[in-house]
Amino acid sequence: MQLKTIFNRVTNYKPFVVDHVELTEDNLLRPTIEITMRARENGLPTCSGCGERCSGYDTQPTARRFDFVPLWMIAVVLVYTMRRVNCGTCGVKVERVPWAEGKSPLTTEYQWFLAGWARRMSWKEVATSFSVSWDHVYNSVKHAVSWGLSRRELDGIESIGVDEVQWKKGHKYQTIAYQIDAGCKRLLWIGPDRTAKTLLRFFRFLGKQRSQTLQFVCSDMWQAYLKVIAKKVPHALHILDRFHVMQKMSKALDEVRAAEVKQLKADGYEPVLAGSRWLLLKRPENLSEKQAVKLDKLLQYNLKSVRSHLMKEDFQRFWTYTYPAWAGKFLDAWCVRAMRSKIEPMKKMAKTLRNKRELLLNWFRANGEMSSGVVEGFNNKLKLITRKSYGFRTQK
Ligand SMILES: [Zn+2]
Repeated sequence: MQLKTIFNRVTNYKPFVVDHVELTEDNLLRPTIEITMRARENGLPTCSGCGERCSGYDTQPTARRFDFVPLWMIAVVLVYTMRRVNCGTCGVKVERVPWAEGKSPLTTEYQWFLAGWARRMSWKEVATSFSVSWDHVYNSVKHAVSWGLSRRELDGIESIGVDEVQWKKGHKYQTIAYQIDAGCKRLLWIGPDRTAKTLLRFFRFLGKQRSQTLQFVCSDMWQAYLKVIAKKVPHALHILDRFHVMQKMSKALDEVRAAEVKQLKADGYEPVLAGSRWLLLKRPENLSEKQAVKLDKLLQYNLKSVRSHLMKEDFQRFWTYTYPAWAGKFLDAWCVRAMRSKIEPMKKMAKTLRNKRELLLNWFRANGEMSSGVVEGFNNKLKLITRKSYGFRTQK
């Protein structure tokens, strides 16, 4: 059987046909299957502006390449020289092809393929596994989401989570909003950056009426989000989720440790903190036996890192309370201890927690009323981001 036969079987790109298939190498000498497409004789091109068939204007000087789903781990590329049309409505425009949208260098098939994997693995893992850029994965997910948006039932959403994902290294962010109701968890929206404007755009997309039905909004402590949520959904219970609070605490602890390592070295002490990063950051129950012994030894030193670690572990108790009032008492006492510690990053953490006291206590106010699905949503937040559905309501 020929490759061409298989390709024609899995695609339907009429009125385009496969001209020829070639096994070549890319510039890194990796094998690549190139499938060169051509328009059928007399087949009029379609205007990318209005979708009407028009007469041809000219042909672009160079061919475009579109990544298709790899076969036997070999990259598959569609090669096609785009034509331009002379459209009565839109003027001179590039033609529309059935395998890709706009300027995307990925075929729609490949985007769905990547977006499908992005539900099971982190975006970064997908990028690595299929040797594509992070942007390609991101754009594929975005494509899947916007495809879903036009076919999606958005009424009756009660709980949403707002989160940020960092785009590459550096400081490019994307804001993600997802539904975290018990029976329906899905990605609702993605937008560039993490400013107040970004989130305002989400609420505009959701609409005033649907925002009214929201009962729970879950987010991290990012100020821009807090502001917009307070303004747009003042009636909903706004909850700072455990995952992000503890993540912030870990960052503070890491800061303490890094500074102390430097200090000890400068003062000529033995490097007791060498290799201690995970010992201090991991939950004790997640440490191996060897690591636990090492941590025990480390705890004998009266180091700032050790004290910060103990403070962080102590704070875990906060989440075990049932009543907001008792949790509040614990929080206040913890903050007093942190302020007295004379450890700057921990003091800063305490100030933040004091500042967000009411939002933190909403966690307990919500506990009784919220469906278990939402609570589960908080705990599995990281996993949830990538395990959402695109578009259809799914039963759990
Ligand atoms: Zn047109």
